Amino acid sequence: MDFQQIFGKTPEMQASAPGRVNLLGEHTDYNDGFVLPTAIPQRTTVNLGFSKDGQHHFYSQELDERVSISDNEHTPPGFASYILGCIRLLQQEKQAIPPLNLHVSSSVPMGSGLSSSAALEVATLRGVRSLLNLDLDDVRIAEIAQQAEIQYAGVNCGIMDQMASSLADTDSMLFLDTRSLERQVIPFPAGAEVLVIDSGVPRTLATSGYNQRRAECEEAARSLGVKALRDISDPQAVENLPEPQQRRARHVVTEDNRVLEVLQGVSAQRFGELMNASHASLRDDYEVSVPALDTLVAILQETPGVFGARLTGAGFGGACVALVEAGKAGAIAQNVLERYNNAGNTGRILVPEI
Ligand code: ADP
Ligand code: MG
Repeated sequence: MDFQQIFGKTPEMQASAPGRVNLLGEHTDYNDGFVLPTAIPQRTTVNLGFSKDGQHHFYSQELDERVSISDNEHTPPGFASYILGCIRLLQQEKQAIPPLNLHVSSSVPMGSGLSSSAALEVATLRGVRSLLNLDLDDVRIAEIAQQAEIQYAGVNCGIMDQMASSLADTDSMLFLDTRSLERQVIPFPAGAEVLVIDSGVPRTLATSGYNQRRAECEEAARSLGVKALRDISDPQAVENLPEPQQRRARHVVTEDNRVLEVLQGVSAQRFGELMNASHASLRDDYEVSVPALDTLVAILQETPGVFGARLTGAGFGGACVALVEAGKAGAIAQNVLERYNNAGNTGRILVPEI
């Protein structure tokens, strides 16, 4: 149902924001390191208007769910927490936000690692900014979006997803230094485009695995006497660490170096090699791959037209990203999916949008 059907009038404002996929720089963000996401074609759209009954009303078309809440009530769990978190953080900054009607619709798949949560937050903040003429730049929007997710949705996330949704586009990559927030828009290597396939394996162990890796990295940084592993650039420096810290630190240090190499300007061929090396490092040193992801990556890597492929996101399931010859992503994705699913898997194509 559209805004008119839910709220009985037309919206005053519309805004949208994209999902994202990370091309290189995995498990580096909580080590103060470097990441390289791009926006995907799928977007989340919000339509907004003023509510006259003193309550906020949020509706999600995907969930077909409506939440009504006033400013002095506790934040309810679920999708409303992402939206209300944004509104409440703005109010804490002394912005006057009147009761709103807000309608959400989205083509970003939820919970597939393409960051539908950041797209929802950034679209909400963009909509509120336009509706009320707020003075907020795109970095501030990303920071408020991240805090909404941490403080109100209860997800302890880094800043990559929100920065990508707020600042990246589909035609280029966004280099981000997660410590300084220094960033740079980098064109795709000539003649290349992106493909994303979901492995069909749920990320069941992702949370415990993630927390364990984070702890191992902090331990490694302490042993090396640095604030974070981002402060190490020579992989030799980790060689005296005990295992498993040594392998974990080696992944982070080499992965940061792979992202930094892209800043020098690399061909599609070389970018693909860096993605393949990233996957091997995530599999062997970081140990966050699973057999289905290795199978999918192997099929991608041996398919003509593919420059390189790796798992993307935290691992333990989820999706794989590949860099492929421009104009061929759809055909390659179909072909790879058929081979992968014929081997008994239940993958699906996420990018390009079909
Ligand atoms: P991801 O960000 O990888 O898609 P998350 O678990 O971080 O996965 O975020 C998914 C959550 O974000 C959903 O469970 C829901 O609460 C919220 N969300 C995202 N998009 C929408 C939407 N279109 N409608 C309602 N809720 C949404
Ligand atoms: Mg998310």
